[in-house]
Amino acid sequence: MSWNIKAKLKQTLKAEEGSIIKDRGGKATYLLIYPNTYHVGMSNLGVHNVYRILNERDDVVCERAFLPEKADLKEHKRTNTPILSYESQRPINEFDIIAFSVAYENDIPNIQTILELSKIKKGFGPKLIVGGAAVTLNPKLFERQFDEVITGNFEGSGSLPARSAIWTRDTEFGSMHLVEVQRGCPHRCRFCAAPVIYSPFKQFSKEEVVKAIDVGLPYRKKIGLIGGDVLGHKDFIDIAEYIHSKGATFSPSSVRADRINRQIAELLKISGHRTITLAPEAGSEALRRAIGKNIPDEKFFEAASLLGEHGIRQIKLYFMMGLPRESDADVRAIVEFVKRVKGQGASGKITVAVNPFVPKVRTLFAGERFAELNELKVKIARLKKDIGKIGGVMFKAESPVQALREYEWQK
Ligand code: SF4
Repeated sequence: MSWNIKAKLKQTLKAEEGSIIKDRGGKATYLLIYPNTYHVGMSNLGVHNVYRILNERDDVVCERAFLPEKADLKEHKRTNTPILSYESQRPINEFDIIAFSVAYENDIPNIQTILELSKIKKGFGPKLIVGGAAVTLNPKLFERQFDEVITGNFEGSGSLPARSAIWTRDTEFGSMHLVEVQRGCPHRCRFCAAPVIYSPFKQFSKEEVVKAIDVGLPYRKKIGLIGGDVLGHKDFIDIAEYIHSKGATFSPSSVRADRINRQIAELLKISGHRTITLAPEAGSEALRRAIGKNIPDEKFFEAASLLGEHGIRQIKLYFMMGLPRESDADVRAIVEFVKRVKGQGASGKITVAVNPFVPKVRTLFAGERFAELNELKVKIARLKKDIGKIGGVMFKAESPVQALREYEWQK
């Protein structure tokens, strides 16, 4: 057993607020594992929610574990140390139930790493259960490895908004208190898994959201509002104004261009935003309509202009490449689109981020093909060159090989 690892876990725990240490006596013991590092996992609202709900029960103790960082993995192997929980630094096999929360398919190999490192196998030792977004989308992937596969909401977690339950700086959204305002998305873009995973769509009431915000205000002055169409929440203005009235600011997890009006641009400005991310997904309006994202070009240009007027001059634009029935003209249209956005007041930095299209199971595009790797590479390289000519625009693209891996994981 490595004392270095134990010491590191204790130190991380000390830097947290909100973690729960319970006496185990006579209680069912759960180890909740997110199969990626602490830094990644602690920004996942699902982890916070399950942890909080389980620990609210008097007959249950729930502790957490994550995939060790690379250097720590070596230390685990060198010292023959299994995965340990953060709260009590107990080894994984001293828990009754090991519950994996899996948000992304790319994390599936890490499950194996964690179990192998700890010499845990289905049928021997603790019961192995799994849930989370990736599981709800594609439960078959998990049946072989787990005793129980949970799809949909974890028991008792569906009725109220999920919110941060532990606050730490050592995570991607460490400066925020996260609050779920919607579960899922009211739209149905053909490529998107969100409406499939979180179905039916649920919008939490203003009162429920305000209560969840209040819990976090003593810890953080920035509220991350989570949902598929946050600005489209029926009480968004009231929620935003409530946050400002408490001397705090907000950051929405999604911004649809067709929701931006003068009032919303003003609220974003008050909350200190300098950059906004929009997701046109396709450069041409026709292709955008074909993939189910029915937002006309003009809405994006109007949004860029309104945001620019409110001092928000940096815009990040997300596009997909290799979409079904995408033509060269559609790809070229991205360049014209970016030029128009730049001309509309986005005088600061524009970032264009391109992701290869990955057909997801159970979405309306489930049966579509993944584009040829070479075709993707050529299209991305050409686009990068053309975007480079605009000037003042940064270009980023996800590797097609990585996207292909994600596609293959589904099978
Ligand atoms: S892409 Fe965005 S707007 Fe479309 S369904 Fe997904 S979350 Fe909703």
